[in-house]
Amino acid sequence: MNIYHLVRNNIIKLEAYQSARKIGGIGNIWLNANEIPYSDNWKLNINLLNRYPPIQPSKLINKYAKYSGVQPNQILVSRGADEGIELLMKTFCEPNKDTILFCTPTYGMYKICAEIFGIKYITIPFTSHWQLNLSKINLQLHKIKLIYICNPNNPTGNIINLNDIKKLLRIINYRSILIIDEAYIDFCLHNSIVTWISEFSNLVVLRTLSKAFALAGLRCGFTIAHNTIIQILSKIITPYPLPMPVINIAEKAFTDKNIQKTYNRIKIINYNRNVLMKKLIKCPCIQQVFPSVSNYLLVKVNPKYQVFQKLWNQGIILRDQSKQIGLSNCLRITIGTYKECKHLIHALQQLNKESN
Ligand SMILES: *Cc1c(COP(=O)(O)O)cnc(C)c1O
Repeated sequence: MNIYHLVRNNIIKLEAYQSARKIGGIGNIWLNANEIPYSDNWKLNINLLNRYPPIQPSKLINKYAKYSGVQPNQILVSRGADEGIELLMKTFCEPNKDTILFCTPTYGMYKICAEIFGIKYITIPFTSHWQLNLSKINLQLHKIKLIYICNPNNPTGNIINLNDIKKLLRIINYRSILIIDEAYIDFCLHNSIVTWISEFSNLVVLRTLSKAFALAGLRCGFTIAHNTIIQILSKIITPYPLPMPVINIAEKAFTDKNIQKTYNRIKIINYNRNVLMKKLIKCPCIQQVFPSVSNYLLVKVNPKYQVFQKLWNQGIILRDQSKQIGLSNCLRITIGTYKECKHLIHALQQLNKESN
C-alpha cells in the first residue's frame, strides 16, 4: 500500500536539507562542512550506562557558563545548535499562523525547520555589504514571532554590525524574540553579544561545539538566554536529550588544557585563513574573495574555469553556494590545514594554466 496520502502535505513538498554528507563526493581534502581539520584523541570514561543520563549536565553547564560569561541557569544544552533552532520554533510558533524572519543569504536550517513545522517565513536580503536592512525588517516586525540572525553569517563569513543588532533590539521592543546564531563566534569572540541577555529578556544566543571546538561528531550545542526562556524550552526538550558519552567528552573539552588547545586551534585556523585569502585573490579563476572572520571563505569564481567540478574531480571538495539568492558563482571554502590550503592554491593555479 502507498502510504503517501497519510504524510503531512508540507513534508511531501519539503526539499530536505542538503548537508555536506548528503551531497557526498570522493576526496582527500574536505573543505565543505566547516569542520576543523584536526582531531584530538578522545577516550571515554563512563559506567552506569544502565541508567538514564542527567537531564542537563551541571558540570558541563558550569564550565560553559564560565567560558561564555553567563550564569549557569541561562544555558540549555542540546543535540547541537540545530536542536536549539528547532526548540525555539516549537516553543514560540503556532503552525499555519505564526511567521519567522531571517536575512538572506544565510544558513539553510531556519527555512527548512520552519517548513517542517508549517511555520511561515519572510526573508529580507542583506544590504550590499551583507548587513541588516533595518528599515525593511522594521516594516515586517508587527507580524514576526522569531528573528534568526547568524553572526558571523554563514556562508558570507562577515560580522553583522553589533550597533545594528542593538538598534534592532530597540526597534523590536519585546514584540519578537531575536535569536543570534553564534556557531562561529569562537573565531572572533570579541564580537559576541551573549552578555546582552542580562539586559534583553527576548534575546537568545545559539552556540555549538561543532566548529571551533572541533567536535562536530559529538552533536552538542547550547542555547543561552534569560532563565525564563530556558525554563520554557526545558519543558519541551526530549526527556534525556544528551547521551552519556556526549556529556563525558563535552566536559573534557573544557579542562584548562583542552580550552587552551581550542584557543591554539583558532589561532592556526585564523592564520591559515589570512594566508589563503591573500593567495586566492591572486588566482585568475577567483573574481572576488569576501572578507571573513570565520573558518571559511566565500569566493566568487569565474564560471569559465568550472572550479567546483574540476576540484571535485580531483578530490578537493568545496561547497557550492551558487543556488542561493545573491550568490551566483559563489563557492564556500572551509579553512583546512596549512598543507590543504597549499594544495588548494596549487590546484587553482593549475586550472589557470590549463585554460591558457
Ligand atoms: C554548523 C551550524 C549550525 C549547527 O551546529 P550543530 O551544533 O552542529 O547542530 C548552526 N548554525 C550555523 C550557522 C552553522 O553553520
